[in-house]
Amino acid sequence: MTRTLTLLGATGSIGASTLDLVRRNPDDWRVEALTANCSSRELAALAVEFDAKLAVVGDESCLPDLREALCGTGIEAAGGPRALCEAAARPVDLTVAAIVGCAGLGPVMAAIERGGTVALANKEALVSAGEVMTAAVTKHGATLLPTDSEHNAIFQCLAGNSLDDVARITLTASGGPLRTWSKDQLAKATPAQAVAHPNWSMGAKISVDSATMMNKGLEFIEAHHLFPVGLDRLRIVVHPQSVIHSMVEYRDRSTLAQLGPSDMRVPIASCLAWPARMDTPLEPLDLAAIGELTFFAPDEVRFPATRLAREAIEGGAGAPAVLNAANEVAVAAFLAGQIGFSRITAVVEDTMSRHHAAAPGNLDDVLALDAEARAHAGEILENFALV
Ligand code: NAD
Ligand code: MG
Repeated sequence: MTRTLTLLGATGSIGASTLDLVRRNPDDWRVEALTANCSSRELAALAVEFDAKLAVVGDESCLPDLREALCGTGIEAAGGPRALCEAAARPVDLTVAAIVGCAGLGPVMAAIERGGTVALANKEALVSAGEVMTAAVTKHGATLLPTDSEHNAIFQCLAGNSLDDVARITLTASGGPLRTWSKDQLAKATPAQAVAHPNWSMGAKISVDSATMMNKGLEFIEAHHLFPVGLDRLRIVVHPQSVIHSMVEYRDRSTLAQLGPSDMRVPIASCLAWPARMDTPLEPLDLAAIGELTFFAPDEVRFPATRLAREAIEGGAGAPAVLNAANEVAVAAFLAGQIGFSRITAVVEDTMSRHHAAAPGNLDDVLALDAEARAHAGEILENFALV
């Protein structure tokens, strides 16, 4: 049966993996809308290839270019943040949310508010909005399918069991490309070194998050909302091979783990086919060739990000949104060569300690808090850049 699909963030890494699977199964999908931030030519080419009805750029200044590229195709073009939300609000069977950063929050909420099924890769949206998003999911009868590989693994290992029977959820972390670096070496890490992930090929922002371990921090907060077992039943273990994507231990001490190749097409396929299964073009897992799986406790002295994430949850209210906003600002500054690698988490910690926000009650509160925290992080960053 053909199902309808909207893909938010079609030109990114998750977008490309999703479209690769759709391309292999053309009869299963009809594409409603594809979106990007700017890359108008690339978006237009995808819209034509997948016969989308609508293509949207988040950056309105790129709309004339998109219009020109789609001229004569009959595909609708739109631009700006509001157009992204309108695209996400169109009824479809599945929305894949793969915009990077809090910029994806409005569109994700629009898809949730129409009671849709949303495959959520855009972790920053859930980290920022937290209870506002989970409450909207319940209120509108929406379904969230976790697409992040760890959360997808947990979702699969839970297999409909009650969270009351769960003793512990363990998120695995690769440790990133700088896992074995000393504090002094870390201070000098360049953007090129930080984005060179050994196991996963991903967009620039999440690659840096992976190097600082903030990716695991964000995922810790994400897991806290998706699988609310309480902080004492949630932990992180470093597992450099990225073969086990996460684990659920039950109260009888039975632990279920999900294993697979480190390729996002596996969790994406699980969401596309859910609750059934589909083929992927990946090689079977060859455990004898992998040989060894190793595990380490996280080192929160060299990589403080997971501690900050835990403190953000404990701090409650708007702290996770502040953490996320400050991190987005700091990662962009690091990628632009404005601050050193170790300053990223320092900017986040400083912003969190100086910004005590009330709990956001709705989407507008979250977006206002995000903007305030960004401004705050920007000021802190300027001081850091001067040192
Ligand atoms: P990416 O940078 O490769 O792609 C991001 C997409 O979002 C692009 O299509 C871009 O045009 C669009 N975009 C960026 N800013 C935008 C804005 N302001 N408005 C509208 N659209 C905008 O990122 P990615 O690696 O594909 O990651 C996407 C999301 O999925 C992130 O939240 C990331 O944390 C999460 N995720 C990624 C991976 C991975 O392997 N890449 C794994 C797990 C989770
Ligand atoms: Mg992940």
